[in-house]
Amino acid sequence: MPTATDTAEAFAAALAEAILHCRAFGHQWEPQSVEHKRKQRVYHWRWLCSSCTSEKMMVVNDRTGETADNRYDYVDGFLATGMEPGTMRRSVFRMEVIHRMEHATRSRSRVKRAS
Ligand SMILES: [Zn+2]
Repeated sequence: MPTATDTAEAFAAALAEAILHCRAFGHQWEPQSVEHKRKQRVYHWRWLCSSCTSEKMMVVNDRTGETADNRYDYVDGFLATGMEPGTMRRSVFRMEVIHRMEHATRSRSRVKRAS
């Protein structure tokens, strides 16, 4: 678990692949179901991220289509606690994706040379 002394870089380095991808590039939201809440005059529209499996519920005004609220239920490990404010930038997560790709490329070429 991240602690107050962790950096965003350390948090990024420990992330599962799917979560890192969403942190770097955004969620891949896919609509799941919609329910009309007639009394509240809204739709509850549920979405699932096909990458990290976090969930989102959009509360949509049933006359105007305006979004009244977005509620998120993040998959375990997605949220960081105790990070310095402003340090959880997408650029940090992009760099982690690049480092992993570079490492994978190096590992592959090492295997190739060995055979
Ligand atoms: Zn996601």
